[in-house]
Amino acid sequence: KKITIAIDGFSSTGKSTLAKQLAKELEYVYVDTGAMYRAVALYAMQNQLIGADFFDKNKLVAALPQIQLEFKFNPDLGFGEMYLNGENVEKQIRTIEVSNFVSKVAEVSEVRSKLVEQQQEMGKNKAIVMDGRDIGTVVFPDAELKIFMTASAETRAQRRFDELQQKGDTVTYEDVLHNVVERDHIDTHREDSPLVIANDAIEIDNSYLTREEQFAAVLELIND
Ligand code: C5P
Repeated sequence: KKITIAIDGFSSTGKSTLAKQLAKELEYVYVDTGAMYRAVALYAMQNQLIGADFFDKNKLVAALPQIQLEFKFNPDLGFGEMYLNGENVEKQIRTIEVSNFVSKVAEVSEVRSKLVEQQQEMGKNKAIVMDGRDIGTVVFPDAELKIFMTASAETRAQRRFDELQQKGDTVTYEDVLHNVVERDHIDTHREDSPLVIANDAIEIDNSYLTREEQFAAVLELIND
């Protein structure tokens, strides 16, 4: 039986790692909705609509019809990569600069409704694992399995820091921790679709779980 799996939670809780493992195991499609918000943020940065001390929301909303987002499947990776107006932006959307602006962009209702609609379309045939912040609450409130992932801010910052360092980013741990805490705050306090746990979601705190333990626990839930 094909189901819809919604994986929500705070940033850097390992949602995408788990979602990718599940998609591979079940031969489902994996969709990283954070990549879509990040691509919109990148567009806003490239077009000088957002910066350290300004954000032209109205112009961004007006430009939304010109922002084309697409996941193109990469067989080497086993999942889709994010394309913004025809360009592969996977690398660019993972920088700390984009991370610093993305939550502000994700607060805009018009941005959310455009992306949510696209996400619902991608999941209409089920057999999908989608990760984000509002998948179990807004995008697929009827998802058969909802997971909500948490871990301490320090654990999450350390993970993201290690990842960025491996990629050669010169960011400091303090900057990453600051970004994680700031995004948590904006994500949980925004007016439109704030990050909340769905009442039928299963919460997993993976501060002390290995990837393997976490994967095994979720597979058990699916087989139940
Ligand atoms: O998952 P990731 O950390 O890449 O998401 C980046 C940001 O995009 C989040 O901090 C959040 O502000 C926003 N987001 C969202 N709703 C989603 C996915 C991401 O608001 N479904």
